[in-house]
Amino acid sequence: MGLICAACGGHDMREETRVVSRLYKGQTIVIKTMPGRYCFDCGEAEFLNPSDANRFASEMQQAMATIDQARRTELRSIRRRLGLKQAEAAALFGGGVNAFSEYERGVREPSKSTVVLLRLLDRHPNLLAEARSAA
Ligand SMILES: [Zn+2]
Repeated sequence: MGLICAACGGHDMREETRVVSRLYKGQTIVIKTMPGRYCFDCGEAEFLNPSDANRFASEMQQAMATIDQARRTELRSIRRRLGLKQAEAAALFGGGVNAFSEYERGVREPSKSTVVLLRLLDRHPNLLAEARSAA
């Protein structure tokens, strides 16, 4: 008999210590040395010791905050490189008049398409005029 996975109902849960990774906004966060019970069918993890669960949560939060901050800095840098004021960027990419102010302060998340388009224009700034005429 074995333990049953709460996520998938599988019967192959094993206790071991793993490096656990999670994908967040396209980036991989790696948390080292996580003892727990792992499902060999679906990958579900259970952390048995509350101090491990707390460390996992706090390292995840820290890593997500770092990724969010880097994202905000990236958006602002690209906008500035393209020579756009926040209101001009909002007019071009949509999202409302305060969109870029809110993205850059972390109040609101830009859509994935906005991020992709900004990165694309950063690599090909010559397309800015074309983007404007298509907006
Ligand atoms: Zn499972």
